[in-house]
Amino acid sequence: MTDAREERRAFLLKACAVAGSMLAVGVVRQAVAAEQEGKEMQMGQGGTDGYVMHSNVTQRCATCEFWGGPRRLAQDGKTITITGLGWCNNPQSANYLKMTSPEHGPMAVWKKWQLIR
Ligand code: SF4
Repeated sequence: MTDAREERRAFLLKACAVAGSMLAVGVVRQAVAAEQEGKEMQMGQGGTDGYVMHSNVTQRCATCEFWGGPRRLAQDGKTITITGLGWCNNPQSANYLKMTSPEHGPMAVWKKWQLIR
């Protein structure tokens, strides 16, 4: 009976240790995700029509000449509103004919979208 209690106690201690370490990993992952989200927010942010990015952002798909995603340049030319993923149409890119997100990059083979002044 005592052995069973000792084994149960040991099991519970191990389970608590595992749960604690998993919780710590979860907290770290959340912190990393928040940091990445913060960096993306420096490039753009969600809007009522879609994801809004500043048109002066370089080396990212949303501002690239070769990107085939749904996007609209604002009349004042300062922002781009994006509503989805797009195809890379640059044969010089490792992502050629692959689907990419508007924030994908930085990329040396990026070329400024000709509609951006
Ligand atoms: S993957 Fe690179 S080359 Fe292709 S659209 Fe995006 S920024 Fe442009």
